[in-house]
Amino acid sequence: MKVVKFGGSSLSTASQVKKVYNIVVSDPERKAVVVSAPGKRFEEDLKITDLLIECGERALNTREYGDIAAAVILRYKQIAKELLLSDSIGEEISQNILGLLKGNKNNPHKYLESIKASGEDNHARLIAAYFQSQGHNASYMNPRTAGLIVSNEPGNAQVLPQSYERLSKLREHEGIIIFPGFFGYNTEGEVMTFSRSGSDITGAILANGMGADIYENFTDVDAVYAVNPSIITHPKEIRELTYREMRELSYAGFSVFHDEALVPAFRAAIPVHIRNTNNPEAEGTLVVSSRDNKNGPVIGIASDNGFCRIYISKYLMNREIGFGRKLLQILERHGVSYEHIPSGIDDVTLILRQDQIGRNDEDMIISEIKNELRADEVKIERDLALVMIVGEGMRQNVGTAARASQALADASINIEMINQGSSEVSMMFGVHGNDEKKAVGALYRAFF
Ligand code: ASP
Repeated sequence: MKVVKFGGSSLSTASQVKKVYNIVVSDPERKAVVVSAPGKRFEEDLKITDLLIECGERALNTREYGDIAAAVILRYKQIAKELLLSDSIGEEISQNILGLLKGNKNNPHKYLESIKASGEDNHARLIAAYFQSQGHNASYMNPRTAGLIVSNEPGNAQVLPQSYERLSKLREHEGIIIFPGFFGYNTEGEVMTFSRSGSDITGAILANGMGADIYENFTDVDAVYAVNPSIITHPKEIRELTYREMRELSYAGFSVFHDEALVPAFRAAIPVHIRNTNNPEAEGTLVVSSRDNKNGPVIGIASDNGFCRIYISKYLMNREIGFGRKLLQILERHGVSYEHIPSGIDDVTLILRQDQIGRNDEDMIISEIKNELRADEVKIERDLALVMIVGEGMRQNVGTAARASQALADASINIEMINQGSSEVSMMFGVHGNDEKKAVGALYRAFF
């Protein structure tokens, strides 16, 4: 049995919905279909979810939202019309969206959550109607009816463990289930959305709950590539990678599959098959528990920018008990999380996402570290990029670090930081933000 998820670009127009239909019905094992809201039809287009958020925020600020709401409704109506569905579908969607926008605004979070989720919810209803119009036994499934219960965290909901037991009952459901992605309900019965692009998460939860043999995640690329195709043209396609490798790559910018969605799949050891709606013949990429390490040490290269580092030095730091705790408490007070802490004998560096610290906070944090820890030197440097090479094969191969640093040296790139050892499957290089692409290119040439 397969659980299948289709992303927004796979469902952005009537012709895309038809492709999805053909894919689903071509294999009777495809039992549950998780759908996103209509996404971009072309590069400059806007996603329905973004338009809905804009409408909701305008309504909360008593600004005019009518044009945008009309554009959203028109998108659904156009799709319904081209799929030759009855006018009532478009009317129901229109009433639903306008009704939500006129809803109670006393609790802005609650208000916005329902509006955000309506993108997926209405599309699932429309798609179920299309499957039925083609003579298939398919039905829309509401996440609350199905038992998808989540924590009370708007925009960052987490599945609650009791959901899995309830979702397992869906195995007995007759016909194809069309399930809206991106949201569940809290224990009070209120809509809560996952983080953005969270339909991947819904699919993984459903695959786990229903005990699927495989979770197929259909998107708009033929495979996960070894490196970002906007940096290297026609990069190597990855056929198979492990959950750990995927997790490390998505940390540093691989956005094909939501990193939170790996957890439910990984826990139940369900392989995730990433495939292309526009080219279902392509082999795609399989994410699995373990793989043969035939491909050499590195499977993929990822990078992300917008980091900063706080460098702290104090003579005899290594002997001072409680230094690390006091340092991290200062960050905690400022509501700042850290990413990495490489350390030396008398110095430590904190690597953070720089958008967490404004210029004012920066001065305060520096002076608090100086005063409370009596540090000799404290400085912040901004615009750092992290470049990662990832691969399970790294453990068995000698000389990976040498090859990587040689490649960076040959490209005249100064390495600001190396982090290796904590993770067995990745090696991380901090470089100046301006060198990010050059570094990725140099490493790609060295390993592929
Ligand atoms: N529609 C939601 C978003 O744009 C969720 C998704 O597409 O997965 O974030």
